[in-house]
Amino acid sequence: MTALETILKAQISAQGPMSVAQFMSLCLLHPKHGYYSTRDPLGTGGDFITAPEISQMFGELIGLCLAQVWIDQGQAAKVALVELGPGRGTLMADILRTIRAVPGFAAACDVHLIEASPHLRAAQKNTLTGYIPTWHDSVATLPDDQPIYCAANEFFDALPIRQMIRNGDGWRERMIGLEGDTLSFGLSEVAPLDALAHRLEDTKDGDLVEHCPAASAIMQTLGARIEANGGAALIFDYGDWRSLGDTLQAVRDHEMVDPLHRPGQSDLSAHVDFEALIADLHCHHSRLTLQGIFLERLGITQRAQALAKSLSGPALDQHIAAHKRLTHADEMGTIFKTLALFPEGANPPAGYET
Ligand code: SAH
Repeated sequence: MTALETILKAQISAQGPMSVAQFMSLCLLHPKHGYYSTRDPLGTGGDFITAPEISQMFGELIGLCLAQVWIDQGQAAKVALVELGPGRGTLMADILRTIRAVPGFAAACDVHLIEASPHLRAAQKNTLTGYIPTWHDSVATLPDDQPIYCAANEFFDALPIRQMIRNGDGWRERMIGLEGDTLSFGLSEVAPLDALAHRLEDTKDGDLVEHCPAASAIMQTLGARIEANGGAALIFDYGDWRSLGDTLQAVRDHEMVDPLHRPGQSDLSAHVDFEALIADLHCHHSRLTLQGIFLERLGITQRAQALAKSLSGPALDQHIAAHKRLTHADEMGTIFKTLALFPEGANPPAGYET
């Protein structure tokens, strides 16, 4: 039994079943035993791999996209360059390296990182040697007098979700309790949920809808800052326009595992509901765009060809495979989507449409 499993069982015995959101939150971010609190889950020795870890091209194109927004919006002298959930800091390092080619932008940027895990903050500090990032627990403490230039990759999928099952005009919440001495799923009593009132129109009894209160709160703060002070946010994640069905997943060592097995030792995530992300947003947003299409629009193929010129043998094979992995419909090109936030009156960032 993992140390966290003992803690979860004691809490359930004392207080009764917990929501999937509480379970996710403890499994990922328990200060001593949480998945992100205790390890670096990315990269070759890790449990999963993300776009910036696959190829530098991902961060390069995001950096240039943000730089173009900065130029289009009048080249503010001081801006906050923000990343949500920066993992090892690879994406931010690629952005910062690339924007040095855009006169004035790098000098205008102060780096702000929203990161809950002290372990990953240390990894980010290491990757970003030579820069002086400010770390935050939440978007609420970002500067509120500067434009925000923000990127987020595979951040929203890590936020805790509630799972609600339709029952008449109300919802029963999927809970985690104990069956004997084993963690098991159960259901709460039926209750209405205002946040899902609109889903009574397109669901039937027994349908499961996921709801991520933390994501909405972050989006609203970010949107309000962008509307007031300018800038943009580029959000990348797997998911779809409207959540339907159970997408909670646990991944360990690149394999899907049971989310209730060995809590704290696997990555828990859920598909992002992009429609819910932009609900009640205080700024404009682009259309949801496939990651592969976004990267192609920004010229990933030309960049891949340019980089390929100095590569040969296994390094070239790996580079070609990485390009395909980021963009191809059978790989990350269509399951991953992207969405941009920008202020009213501005054009959508390059690669996006309204
Ligand atoms: N963006 C990175 C890492 C993705 S993993 C990449 O693409 O490689 C998710 C990241 O979000 C980790 O850095 C994790 O510690 C962070 N994270 C998860 N939940 C968080 C929360 N509630 N607040 C802040 N950071 C969080």
